[in-house]
Amino acid sequence: MQTVTDKYPTRPLEYFTKMKELRRSIARDTFSAKERGKPVIMGGEGGVHALYAAFDAEVIPAMPTGRDMRDINWVIKLNQAAEDRGYGKDCCATLRIALGAHFLGTFGLDKTRGKHLSPDVIVNLIICQGQIKSHQLHAEYLGIPNINIELPFFTHSPELAKKNFINQCHQAVEKLERVLGRKCDDEKLVEGTKRELRIRISMAKIALLQKTIPAPLKLRHMSSLMAFQLRGVTHRKDVADFYDLVLEEVKQRVSDGIAACENEEFRLFHEGSLPWYTKLGDVLRYPERYGAVYIGSLNNFGIGGCFIIDEQGCWDVAPASWEMGQGIKSREDAFEALAEACLNYSPFSRLFMRSELRLSAAKDWKVDGVVLALDRGCVGLTSGLYESALVIKEAGIRATCYETSSTYPPDFDEKGYQGLMDSFIETLRTRKGASNSHAR
Ligand code: SF4
Repeated sequence: MQTVTDKYPTRPLEYFTKMKELRRSIARDTFSAKERGKPVIMGGEGGVHALYAAFDAEVIPAMPTGRDMRDINWVIKLNQAAEDRGYGKDCCATLRIALGAHFLGTFGLDKTRGKHLSPDVIVNLIICQGQIKSHQLHAEYLGIPNINIELPFFTHSPELAKKNFINQCHQAVEKLERVLGRKCDDEKLVEGTKRELRIRISMAKIALLQKTIPAPLKLRHMSSLMAFQLRGVTHRKDVADFYDLVLEEVKQRVSDGIAACENEEFRLFHEGSLPWYTKLGDVLRYPERYGAVYIGSLNNFGIGGCFIIDEQGCWDVAPASWEMGQGIKSREDAFEALAEACLNYSPFSRLFMRSELRLSAAKDWKVDGVVLALDRGCVGLTSGLYESALVIKEAGIRATCYETSSTYPPDFDEKGYQGLMDSFIETLRTRKGASNSHAR
C-alpha cells in the first residue's frame, strides 16, 4: 500500500523535558517518604487523590511501573510467577504482574538504593472488578488494610449514587485516621481537591483540542498525560501546574496549525487495552506510515477528563462554575465536588452507556475508524467492546478488533496486528476515494 507524504508542519513537544523531570521528582518523593516521616498509600488508579493530600501521604502505584516493564523477558517472568501460584490468564492483567513482583521480591523496590518501600494502607477508587480482587490480594500479601471507594451504580438514581459516594469518602477518612494515627487535614483536602479538579478540566480542554484537524497530539501523548492520573498524583501542585503548561502549548500548536503527525490523513481511535510493556509505541505508531494517526479514545478522555455531553452527542468541558475549585471550602464541599466529577462528568464511569459514548466521541472527533483491542485479562476495559464495535459500524464508521494482552507479551501477535491494520487502512482509503469521486 502507498505511504503518504507530509501535509502539515510539525515540531517536537516542548513540555516533554518538564514531564520527565516531574516523573523523576515524584519517584524521589515516593521513595524518600519514610525518611521524611510521611505515610505511604498504595493506589491511584481511579481518582480521589485529594484523600492522599489530606493525610500528607506519598503514593506508590499498585503495579510495576515503566522501568520493570521495559524488559519483555522480565515481564514474562512476572506473569509466570503469578501463574505458578494459580493466577491464570483470566485474572486481571496488571494484577498478575504485580503479584509476580511480590513473589519475585521486586514489588516496591527502589533499584537505585536497593531498598523496599512498604505501603501503610491501600486506598483506591474502584472502577472495575479486576481492581477489587487485585487490591484484596495486595492487602493480603502485604498484611495492610484495604480501603475501597466504589463508584456507585449511577443510572437509576444519580442523587442516591452521589450520597453513597460521599458517605464512602467520609468513611475512608475515619478509617485512614485510625490506620495512620493522624488527623485528616481539611485544608490540604480542599487544596488537593481543587488541584485534582483543575487537572481534570485541563485534561478535558486538551482532549477537546484534539478535535482540530490536524490533531495537535497523538494518543501516545494523551496516554503519557493520563499516566499521572493512574499514578495517583493529581493532588500535587507541580502536576497541576504542569497540566496548565501542557494546555498552553497545545493551544499554541492548534493556533500555529502544528500537527502531531505530519501526514495525518485518517483519524483513528484505539479503544481497550494498550501494552504496558515496550510495544506501546509500536502499536500506536504502525498506522502512521499510511497517514493514519491514533488521536484518542473514550478510555483516555473519559478516565482523566471532565465533560458534559449534550443530546446531540457533542462533548464539551464540564461547567466552569467549579473550574479551579470555586466554592470548595470544607470537607463536605470537597467530597461533593469529587462526587460530581467522578459521577456526573466522567464518561468512563457510565458502564452501560459506553457503546453510545464511544460512538458520540468518534463522531465528535471526526474519526475515520475505531480499532478495538480485546484483552481477556482486562475485564475493566474490554467489557462492552464488541457491542461498541457493532454500534459504531451501524452508524457508518469503520471498526475492527484484534486480540492482545496489556501485560503478557506472547499474547500479542504483532504481525497479525500489522496485517490487520494494512487491510483496515486500505478499506478506509478505498472508502475515502469512493466518497471523493462521488462528491465530484
Ligand atoms: S481495568 Fe483491566 S487491568 Fe485495570 S484493574 Fe481492571 S481488569 Fe485489571
